[in-house]
Amino acid sequence: MAPRAARRPSKKALKERAARISPLLAEEYPGTAKELCALHHRGAFQLLCATILSAQCTDERVNMVTPELFRRYRGPRQLAAADRAELEELIRSTGFFRSKASHLIGMSQGLIERFGPRPADFPTSMEDLTSLPGVGRKTANVVRSVALGLPGLPVDTHVLRVSRLLGLTTQTDAVKVETDLCALFPEEQWGALSLRLILHGRRVCIARRPRCTECVLAELCPSAQLGDTIGPRRTPAVGNPTVTNRRRPQNAATPRSTPR
Ligand code: SF4
Repeated sequence: MAPRAARRPSKKALKERAARISPLLAEEYPGTAKELCALHHRGAFQLLCATILSAQCTDERVNMVTPELFRRYRGPRQLAAADRAELEELIRSTGFFRSKASHLIGMSQGLIERFGPRPADFPTSMEDLTSLPGVGRKTANVVRSVALGLPGLPVDTHVLRVSRLLGLTTQTDAVKVETDLCALFPEEQWGALSLRLILHGRRVCIARRPRCTECVLAELCPSAQLGDTIGPRRTPAVGNPTVTNRRRPQNAATPRSTPR
């Protein structure tokens, strides 16, 4: 007889798993979404610019570029009127600098024309934010959760991969993953949760070699055995309450992480 496919956990079981995962991640990577965000910024407009620049680029590199960017272009009015060649040169090291310059100028023009130049005019809804050039759902969620203190759960490649390994979703589409995760976690946790999953994906649940034996989530993770197929494992994980030999991730104080 063919083996029966593993049954999907009930929604209640998934919520219970999520409720146990959340505090463990919070202990490993403490702080609010604002504190966990690695991109240096003051206010929503600067974070929007920095997040646009962070596509296919490290936060560290973006942080090297933004001080001069924000010194030359103090707000959307200045950036909307930027000399394109000058702006491209300034952000060249972040990669894809031509399209990023277009997005920065177009986004700033959209802000001025449709919402206004003052910080108080800054749009807050997902619909308004994603109507701006260069602003996708992930970027809008970063700005909402980090700079505006609103619910937002950015899904990047780490969030998608780790949440699938944790059995919290079976989806492969980022928007569907976001929907699944939002249904499992309270909205006040969304922003920080996303950043913690990213840090966990970079430091412990590494794509090609997850460190299951060192993972604080191993007891709750249906993929914990995955580490065995890739590398040596010293202790069993699933269903074993005595998983040991965990390495505490490096100090989460800095650098932090931003979805991309
Ligand atoms: S137990 Fe392994 S697969 Fe599961 S989250 Fe931790 S490192 Fe990733």
